[in-house]
Amino acid sequence: MDIHTVQCPYCGEHLEVFIDRSVPRQEYIEDCQICCRPITLTVTLDLDDDTQAHVEARSEEE
Ligand SMILES: [Zn+2]
Repeated sequence: MDIHTVQCPYCGEHLEVFIDRSVPRQEYIEDCQICCRPITLTVTLDLDDDTQAHVEARSEEE
């Protein structure tokens, strides 16, 4: 498990998210720990360099 820091699209707080490295691409919803609104997280692992992971945080309301 990896820990990544993302920014909440609603309140701007930085949140720690856990990344499961066994799945190369995953999308899930996690509630912000500060404002409790649902954030869509898209996690993409770089297969050429397994130390890299890209995490995108989007609001549900786009
Ligand atoms: Zn928030």
